[in-house]
Amino acid sequence: MTRRSSDLQRSVQYLKGVGPRRAEKLARIGVRTARDLLYHIPHRYEDATTVARISALRPGDDATIIGRVVSKGVIPTRSRLRIFHAVLKDDSGLIECAWPGQPWLDNSIRKGDLLLASGTVGFYHGRQMRPREHTLLASAGDEETESGRVFPVYRATEGLNHRQIRGIVEDNLDSLLLEARDAELFGPEWLKAAGLMRLPEALERLHRPETLSQVGPAVRRLAYEELFFLQLLHARARYQYRSREAGLSLDAPPRLTEEFLSALPYRLTAAQQKTWQEIRADMESPSRMYRLLQGDVGCGKTVVAAAAMVRAVDCGKQAVIMAPTELLAEQHQRTLTALLEPIGLAPALLTGSVKGKKRQDVLEDARSGRASVIVGTHALIQDGVGFGSPGLVVIDEQHRFGVEQRRALRDAGGAADTLVMSATPIPRSLALAVYGDLDLSVIDEMPPGRRSVITGVRGPGDRAAAFEFLRGQLAQGRQGYVVYPLIDESDAVEAAAATRAVEELSALFPEFRLDLLHGRMSGTDKDAIMRRFLAGETDVLVATTVIEVGIDVPNATVMLIEHAERFGLAQLHQLRGRVGRGGEQSYCVAFYSGDGPPERLRAFAGTNDGFEIAREDLRLRGQGNLFGAEQHGLPALRFADLDRDYALLEHAREKARTMVEADPDLASPRHRPFARVLQERYADHAALYAVG
Ligand code: ADP
Ligand code: MG
Repeated sequence: MTRRSSDLQRSVQYLKGVGPRRAEKLARIGVRTARDLLYHIPHRYEDATTVARISALRPGDDATIIGRVVSKGVIPTRSRLRIFHAVLKDDSGLIECAWPGQPWLDNSIRKGDLLLASGTVGFYHGRQMRPREHTLLASAGDEETESGRVFPVYRATEGLNHRQIRGIVEDNLDSLLLEARDAELFGPEWLKAAGLMRLPEALERLHRPETLSQVGPAVRRLAYEELFFLQLLHARARYQYRSREAGLSLDAPPRLTEEFLSALPYRLTAAQQKTWQEIRADMESPSRMYRLLQGDVGCGKTVVAAAAMVRAVDCGKQAVIMAPTELLAEQHQRTLTALLEPIGLAPALLTGSVKGKKRQDVLEDARSGRASVIVGTHALIQDGVGFGSPGLVVIDEQHRFGVEQRRALRDAGGAADTLVMSATPIPRSLALAVYGDLDLSVIDEMPPGRRSVITGVRGPGDRAAAFEFLRGQLAQGRQGYVVYPLIDESDAVEAAAATRAVEELSALFPEFRLDLLHGRMSGTDKDAIMRRFLAGETDVLVATTVIEVGIDVPNATVMLIEHAERFGLAQLHQLRGRVGRGGEQSYCVAFYSGDGPPERLRAFAGTNDGFEIAREDLRLRGQGNLFGAEQHGLPALRFADLDRDYALLEHAREKARTMVEADPDLASPRHRPFARVLQERYADHAALYAVG
């Protein structure tokens, strides 16, 4: 009888050398089943294949050695410093190792222990070393460990040190690897196409590599599996969404659409053209569109979305666009009115502030289908709002809406196609991982002739000059922003600090009008202040909270960012995107406090390209912070590195989508093992099956 893969689901408790008490401790590091142990990734390796012979060491060498402890103890010194020392011996000679200030090592290191140590070799009455690092490879009683191998070091937990964990892995590895032979999910052709080794081989190399270079390919194999199941979850969510109701085929003759495009005062950029064709093809096809349109601020997403809206109207349907705030909704309303008026369309506005008779009219026009284009906030998804013949739903700045709100708008849209827009560029790898259930359209090019914002990074000594520069711009009738980071978690402290800052600035710029915007204000107050700034009634806006993503004040040409080192790279770029919206040259000055600008600020000044910034952000902050698996309800990635494994991610996505399209329920004998894995290992992420 062959074992079924699900046997690896048995509790780790039943493995050799574990038992209930150790099982409890292992659970603390996430190891609950036999499979968890098999997939438990060492957090580093000690490479004993490059170990030096003690007799061959020369003063000044930086070396790794392995030796038995032949004597040890704590040496008292005249000062308070106590030094633990141990003499290590291999078959060629002796070396004395010293750990100043670590007398407690005397309790954990025993005579007869086999130690691996690395550090610089010195010479004083004999060879000496102050180990930078050391690892206990085996205790006095253990069997001799072969040298010339690579030792995995597992993360320890209270009551189980890394050697004990390694012992448990070693005791069970051979039998678990036998079981893993039957747990291989991917066929030989598949693995070959992706350039991957088989599962048992990968797992063996993970825990028992012969050389360090074997580890990388093993991790890649396991990363692929992880990425494949992530994409399988996404593919299922996507399939459910697209098939839930018959979608619409918005394929009537594009009369208005052509009129709209030819009336534009400019030609679409190649990137706009490409994304527009992607969206159009989706709309014309009978399955529902669920697409993300991504692009840096100012790349021209709005006109592409507008074309899609007109396409819906061409087919006798309504187009609805939802923005996260009233101000943004009003701005869309103005922009869309300017764009659509030439073809005889007048967008209606529905926000919380639209009241009385006006509101009744809009609601009635929405319900009857008379309003063909409707712009609004989440007021669009409140009770009592209905759409007569929705064809396209556009969600702007989608990350600012909760899953529930997005779902509600999509439901309100019935079988309508959905386009979500984001002005926060993220690298494609991250987008595929997080938004894998959406199709992706990216505008990665700016309209021609756009002047990029000139960015400076300045130290504490340059503030006066920068403020003089701001004064010069204000004197020419321009406006500017001064932004402070959130000073404290508490709103009260934030408000106080911001008030102080605005007082100081008022003293500095007595001839100009300043206004303050901070997190403690109500939505209505914030809106009023933004409106005054937009109307040019104030010259300088001092703000602590991030100013409205997406708000356009074309006359603002200066952005001063205080304590810029406290902002993330993506955030800095968003702030910079608030200027350079008009025809004038714009400037951004990032002040840092402290000795020198951190690497992040230099990267910021180095480019205006949002996607480049996003890649740099991923590199500097690591995927853990950006991927935020839990936040998205996604399974954590333990083996995959989104940057390194980008090609694998693409491959996994293709495969997962093909599989789900061919067999949505994964019911065929060939696909059933995949369904079982979803059930066994990904039950917690079932929320993804329900479309978010
Ligand atoms: P986004 O919504 O991506 O931030 P917008 O759609 O607001 O960008 O476009 C920014 C500005 O660029 C607008 O003033 C718009 O009229 C202009 N624009 C858009 N596409 C083009 C183009 N292909 N050529 C010239 N200008 C363009
Ligand atoms: Mg815009």
